[in-house]
Amino acid sequence: MKITLAEGAGGVSTARLISEVFAKHFENPILAGMEDAALLPAESGRIALTTDSFVVTPLFFRGGDIGRLAVAGTVNDLLMRGATPRYLTAAFIIETGTDTDTLDRIACSMAATAREAGVLIVAGDTKVVEGSGQVFINTTGVGFVPDGVEVSASRAQAGDVVLLSGTLGDHHAALLSARMGIENQIESDAAPLTAMVQALLSAGIHLHAMRDVTRGGLGTVLAEIAEASSVQIELEEDALPMTPAVKSFCGLLGLSPLYMGNEGKLIALLPAEEAEPALEIVRSSPYGENATVIGTVTAGEGVTLRTALGGIRRIGPLVGEGLPRIC
Ligand code: MG
Repeated sequence: MKITLAEGAGGVSTARLISEVFAKHFENPILAGMEDAALLPAESGRIALTTDSFVVTPLFFRGGDIGRLAVAGTVNDLLMRGATPRYLTAAFIIETGTDTDTLDRIACSMAATAREAGVLIVAGDTKVVEGSGQVFINTTGVGFVPDGVEVSASRAQAGDVVLLSGTLGDHHAALLSARMGIENQIESDAAPLTAMVQALLSAGIHLHAMRDVTRGGLGTVLAEIAEASSVQIELEEDALPMTPAVKSFCGLLGLSPLYMGNEGKLIALLPAEEAEPALEIVRSSPYGENATVIGTVTAGEGVTLRTALGGIRRIGPLVGEGLPRIC
C-alpha cells in the first residue's frame, strides 16, 4: 500500500500506520502506553543527549539501510562521550508514495539494530508530506555517563596514540557505488559500537577522546580533535587500513580515504602504554577485527600525515561538498 496524506491526518489511518508498522516492531513496555511522553527511570551519573537526522539516499544499500543508520549513528554519538546508551526517540517524515512495505523493512531494521545496541525506542512521531517516496528519520538518544568517565574531544594529550577500529571508507564507497550503479562487493559498515566501547570502559582503559568516523571522514574528525585539544596528531599513511575493494575503488575514482565517511568505525585517543590491551579488546569485539594504531599525539598543532614515500603532508578538515546525503 502507498502512503497518502490520509496516513498523516492524525485519524484512523495514522493510528493504523503506527500500530501495524512502527509499534509492532519497536514493541516495549514504555512505548506500549502510547502516552504523550515516555517516563524513564533516572540513573546515576550524568545524562548524555544527542540528536541526528538521516536523509540518506538510496534508502537501502549493500550492508545497511536508513533505519540501521538512524539507530547506529545516534547510539555511537552517545558512546563517544562514554555514555551507556539507553533510549531513543524516532521521528519519521514520510513522503507520499512511500510503500508501507518499505516502512516495514526500515522499522524492522531499526528494531534489530536497537536490540543489538542495547537501547529501547520509547517515543516516536510520524508526519506525511507530499513527495515521491523518500523517508527522513530523526533519532534522539539518551544515555548515562558513569561518574569518573570523562571522554571529550578536548582531552587528547601528547603521548597518546590514535587507535582506529577498522577499515576506512566502507560506507561512503558502498553508497557511491549504489548511486553510480557500479557493481562491486563493497558493503557499508553501519553498526552500533556498544559492545566495543563498553569493553574498553569496563577494562579501565583511559579513553581521553573518541569520535566515530562519519561524515567528513578521518581527516575532519582528527583536525577537530587536534584543535579542541591543542595538540598535534601525526598519522602514518601506511598504517591506514582499507579493504582491497575500497582501496581500488578510491584509486579508480581519485578519492581520498581520509575524507570518506564510515558509519561503524571509531577512533580512540588513549595513553600509548595502554595501546596493546586496548587493541586486543577492540580486535576481539564485534566490528573491530581490523583495528590498528594509526598515529600518535605530540605537542604542537594540526594533523600531519607521513606519506608512504616519507614526505610530510598537513591534513585539514574537509572543505566544500564531499558526497551529500550519505547519512
Ligand atoms: Mg559523531
